[in-house]
Amino acid sequence: MQLRKGDVVEVISGEEKGRRGKVLRIEWHEKSKSYRAIVEGVNLAKKHQRTRGPDKPGGIVDLPNPIDVSNLVLICPKCGKKAKVRREEHEGRRVRVCRECEEIIDV
Ligand SMILES: [Zn+2]
Repeated sequence: MQLRKGDVVEVISGEEKGRRGKVLRIEWHEKSKSYRAIVEGVNLAKKHQRTRGPDKPGGIVDLPNPIDVSNLVLICPKCGKKAKVRREEHEGRRVRVCRECEEIIDV
């Protein structure tokens, strides 16, 4: 699993192909034995929300649905390309390095 919370990713298949957003959360999906990511502004689904007080009215809100990480690719924050990363040891930590621009991608 190469993606982490805070990464910018692009959707590479399905209806949302080409959309980019920031990873808000990564979760393990037991049924499909794979990781899924909640990506900001991507794969939105309308959900009904209950009223939870006077300042939190209910209604229909757009919430991102999880996407299987195999449909996502990491975008390098430096060069903006779809990053092919390699793992490298850097100052005693495992980091991801963009093969395009050699930038260490870490969040
Ligand atoms: Zn790069």
